Amino acid sequence: MTTRRQFLFAAGLLPLLQPALADNRRVVIVGGGWGGLAAASQLRQLAPGLEVTLIDRQPAFMSFALSSRWLVEPGAAPWARHDYAGLAKKYGYRFMQADVSGIDIARRSVTTADAVLPFDWLVLSPGIREDWSAWQVNDPQAIAELRRRHSGVMQSAADLPALKQRLASFKGGDLLMTIPPAPYRCPPAPYERALFIAWWLKTQKIPGKLVIVDPNPMMPAFRNILLDRFKDQVTYLDHAKVRSVDLVRKTVSTDIDDIRFDEAMLCPPQQAADVLWQAGLIRREEGGKLSGWAAQGATDFRSAADNRVFVIGDATGLVSPQFGYFPKTGQVASRMGQAVARQIAAQATGKAQTTLLPESVCHVTSSLEPLENIRIDTSYRDRGDGFLIQTVKQVRNPNPAGEDAAWAAAMYREFL
Ligand SMILES: Cc1cc2nc3c(=O)[nH]c(=O)nc-3n(C[C@H](O)[C@H](O)[C@H](O)COP(=O)(O)OP(=O)(O)OC[C@H]3O[C@@H](n4cnc5c(N)ncnc54)[C@H](O)[C@@H]3O)c2cc1C
Repeated sequence: MTTRRQFLFAAGLLPLLQPALADNRRVVIVGGGWGGLAAASQLRQLAPGLEVTLIDRQPAFMSFALSSRWLVEPGAAPWARHDYAGLAKKYGYRFMQADVSGIDIARRSVTTADAVLPFDWLVLSPGIREDWSAWQVNDPQAIAELRRRHSGVMQSAADLPALKQRLASFKGGDLLMTIPPAPYRCPPAPYERALFIAWWLKTQKIPGKLVIVDPNPMMPAFRNILLDRFKDQVTYLDHAKVRSVDLVRKTVSTDIDDIRFDEAMLCPPQQAADVLWQAGLIRREEGGKLSGWAAQGATDFRSAADNRVFVIGDATGLVSPQFGYFPKTGQVASRMGQAVARQIAAQATGKAQTTLLPESVCHVTSSLEPLENIRIDTSYRDRGDGFLIQTVKQVRNPNPAGEDAAWAAAMYREFL
């Protein structure tokens, strides 16, 4: 009996088919955060025949989760640093430490300083960038100086130790904290961080005041505690939008006032990371203005520019007229990573995979003495016509017993 291969060979079609098969195997993942790592490990499990290359400019994964308390307390970081080289070996993917400087969608290639990598599927999970131009700072040197001296550290967890050191050197005066306008990553995180800093100022008797400038309505769970229990430590300015910053005068200007600071954690508006702007994958609003976040499907995360390109994690843009954006949390990013891995595996192997929608669990400290947590559960269901329904449940936990650490450990087990 003539096999399909023999038939193709005889018909002179095998050389044509071989590159086509080879061309179906290369997956490139840009960004080794929660989204990229989840996609890489899940792909290796579901489709071990694929060649998976993970690219990140950093040498190791670090996490923001559980960092609020650690910032103001002595002791080791609550997370371990995980070298990508070790993770690549453990799961069987390839790791390249490099800065991705360009993506050519038409040619299906990714460019770094040393290489041009062709891809058959591309997963983009590059996280966020900060838009300092919204505060009238455009000079790259001035931005670098502001970040070095006063970053609020919401972009890269690798910068957390520097912030911890700056806080340890703070001996009093005005400590300014700006909150970015929504959407930004991990919505409760700035309030939880504020709570720990206020508690630290109070218990360490540091003669300082935490001045919070917030363009959003404050999360109700934190209002009483920050404004009542820590009223001597916290000045809270709501609906206050920073317009500009002056590093020499150590001042930010809002619509209402100029606010001077001795130390600051500056967090300008957030947007999708640079690489998505370079690739032309940012969503345009009606009227043509760039939205700042990526354009991708709400449930398949595929780019309209090429359905073999996926955008996941915090960089993703608008998904719903009802709730706007998926919450920019690690768990959502990791579920998106698993979801795109299933789609790629199904397409590459021909084996059907179940679909997966994002979900998020957030354990937030809402009181310290006595200790109390809030658990925020966000889940989604497809109404049947592609319209997503979001459900958010918020539950008080008056006797926390390490649920936050257990959650983080369970998440990390999936991709570290
Ligand atoms: C203070 C704080 C606390 C938080 N706490 C929690 C929490 O408790 N629970 C939770 O679920 N989430 C939490 N989050 C949110 C969580 O950190 C993010 O949602 C998550 O990191 C998003 O994953 P990602 O893969 O989209 O991006 P990231 O984790 O930011 O990963 C992006 C990666 O891409 C790399 N990269 C970017 N551009 C390039 C390029 N051009 N070339 C090469 N590499 C590139 C970066 O180096 C980075 O490693 C917190 C966030 C903050 C700021």
